[in-house]
Amino acid sequence: MNASDILKKDAQQIWHPLTQHKTALAPLAISHARGNYLYDHEGNRYFDAISSWYTCSYGHCNTTLINALQKQVEQLHHVVFAGMTHEPAVVLAEKLLNILPHNQSKLFFSENGSTSVEIALKMAFQYHFNRGEKRLAVVALEGGFHGDTFGAMSASGLSVYNGPFEDLLIEVIRIPAPTLENVDSVLEQVDQLIDDHEIASFIYEPLVQGAAAMQMNDGSALCRLIRRFRESGILSIADEVMTGFGKTGSYFASDQMLNKPDIICLSKALTGGIMPMAITSCTQEVYDAFLSDETSRGFFHGHTYSGNPLGCAVAAASIDLLTSYEIQEGIARIKESHDAFKPTLEKHKLVAQVRHCGVILALDLDLEMQRYGNERNEIFQWFWNKGVFLRPLGKTIYLVPPFTTTWTELDFLYKTIMEFLDSRLV
Ligand SMILES: *Cc1c(COP(=O)(O)O)cnc(C)c1O
Repeated sequence: MNASDILKKDAQQIWHPLTQHKTALAPLAISHARGNYLYDHEGNRYFDAISSWYTCSYGHCNTTLINALQKQVEQLHHVVFAGMTHEPAVVLAEKLLNILPHNQSKLFFSENGSTSVEIALKMAFQYHFNRGEKRLAVVALEGGFHGDTFGAMSASGLSVYNGPFEDLLIEVIRIPAPTLENVDSVLEQVDQLIDDHEIASFIYEPLVQGAAAMQMNDGSALCRLIRRFRESGILSIADEVMTGFGKTGSYFASDQMLNKPDIICLSKALTGGIMPMAITSCTQEVYDAFLSDETSRGFFHGHTYSGNPLGCAVAAASIDLLTSYEIQEGIARIKESHDAFKPTLEKHKLVAQVRHCGVILALDLDLEMQRYGNERNEIFQWFWNKGVFLRPLGKTIYLVPPFTTTWTELDFLYKTIMEFLDSRLV
């Protein structure tokens, strides 16, 4: 099919995510992708500067991952995971537990980031319920994003998404993302909250809040909050759906913090962008609270595709890649390169702020813009025309390139950004 036929049929039949179809530009038809590039039907290539929503960290069509998928599809592609198990699941579990923070000991499978959060919240509520305590409130960070299902949406602090559903949400109390400057006042607020509410869990995006335009919080300040919550028996949930698997420089953002979460949510780069899969991990203590002679104390949550063998096989192969010398070198290369580029960016007249963590680099333009306004679309289009795919959030332009990005490609990205900034000066 050619691109115009695809677009015609798309417009007739398809409702896209996160889209106001009345005003949105027509979607872009992508023909295929290889390595760090997307290709359109005319054969033009576009550098995937956000790793297709932070999933394709090892590039597109990575042969190691494709081989793992092919091998598994001929062996066992799906089977019920309630009352059955299989080798890819236990192989993945062993590899993942090896690199997760050491207090994590059990893995629960689902298919997307939102459900991994939904599961984490339900686990925390039932953990207290099983111990004879009714705790119905959740504490979350301002500007956090945790997904689009009801629990995850409740925890998310972005009202553009939540508006029509506000009366239907679970009880969530928001506190400012901690920084070294505000942490003492946030701690005071937390003490008050603990006195006034029955809090089940504290959910946070460690180090980087992705959908809040890559806002960065302070790991040591966050640690102090986690400790304070823990002292009151409140479970902490690290939503590492975006930050997981190398993005912040370490395997997980929680690795850079002293206090480890009770529960961790993982998805996005888990399978390197090949299969939709998510995992909610927890400590032995959380798991043990569900063990009982009474059936009803178990965790009665499940999805048809839980533990899908194809997902498990590519996730296991992805972890082998993540821990390989080549990929670790790639992460170090991008980190070092962003570091060196940061001062140049900061000096530019049009740049208000630059943030950097691991392979993530974000700059705020010194302009007032709507998050998804026309100007944002213009910026998107400008970069697309130069052969770079990125998704500006309001006045923030950010990069989360695949770990396979070369020095030459990094230079090309930086040059393109500088060219864009200079073009806006006049
Ligand atoms: C993307 C994201 C989610 C939601 O994941 P989906 O797979 O889109 O449902 C949840 N939390 C964070 C931090 C995310 O970045």
